[in-house]
Amino acid sequence: MMMTDSLDYIRQNVRAIWQELPPSVELVAAAKQQTPEKIMAAIEAGVKIIGENYVQEALAAYQIIGQRVSWSFIGHLQKNKIKKAVEIFDIIETVDSIELAEEINRRAAARGKVMPVLLEVNSGREPQKFGVFPEKVEELARSIVQLPGLKLSGLMTMGPAEGDPEAARPYFRLTRQLFDYLQKLNLPGANIHILSMGMTNSYRVAIEEGATRVRLGTRIFGPRQ
Ligand SMILES: *Cc1c(COP(=O)(O)O)cnc(C)c1O
Repeated sequence: MMMTDSLDYIRQNVRAIWQELPPSVELVAAAKQQTPEKIMAAIEAGVKIIGENYVQEALAAYQIIGQRVSWSFIGHLQKNKIKKAVEIFDIIETVDSIELAEEINRRAAARGKVMPVLLEVNSGREPQKFGVFPEKVEELARSIVQLPGLKLSGLMTMGPAEGDPEAARPYFRLTRQLFDYLQKLNLPGANIHILSMGMTNSYRVAIEEGATRVRLGTRIFGPRQ
């Protein structure tokens, strides 16, 4: 494919997604491994939120694209990357321990910033995955709201990545129930309004189960290498 064709392909994909998404659901373009040029094509077609898994990769794109979009961290955040992450990201979707929350708090406070965060739920209780187990969500949420440099804004979950999207439904439903429960707790200082779940193979199911934000990579940019 020629470059212009591949950029056109991306713009067309994004326009097709807009036709499909309910207006209340936010689209995050999951941009890992994509060039700034490809990310720009998605932005031209209306993408407003870029999701990044790696701080280094995000920095390269951020230096070119800047603050015309908002930047969402969706990967596993290493301790030595937190300072940079707090500088460039508008939200961190993957907080799953009090240690990580406290370090983000420390770095945010040093910058005079309040960092919106989502709590990542390991809804499938898969040992190899990041995220807190469902029964630990309330405890971590109650700790996070004590930290003035963080704004607890909702939940994120991955769910099974491959296979039948229906297989993800129970995990999305469980995460939705946790989200509703957290909202009802009315934790002081929290603003529980984002439920981030669903990727290319599962976003339709995630929306049916109440996602307010989906994270799409392949559906926008095509298969990764
Ligand atoms: C890569 C990635 C996505 C998007 O995955 P696709 O299947 O390509 O849509 C969503 N969320 C996270 C956390 C990711 O790492």
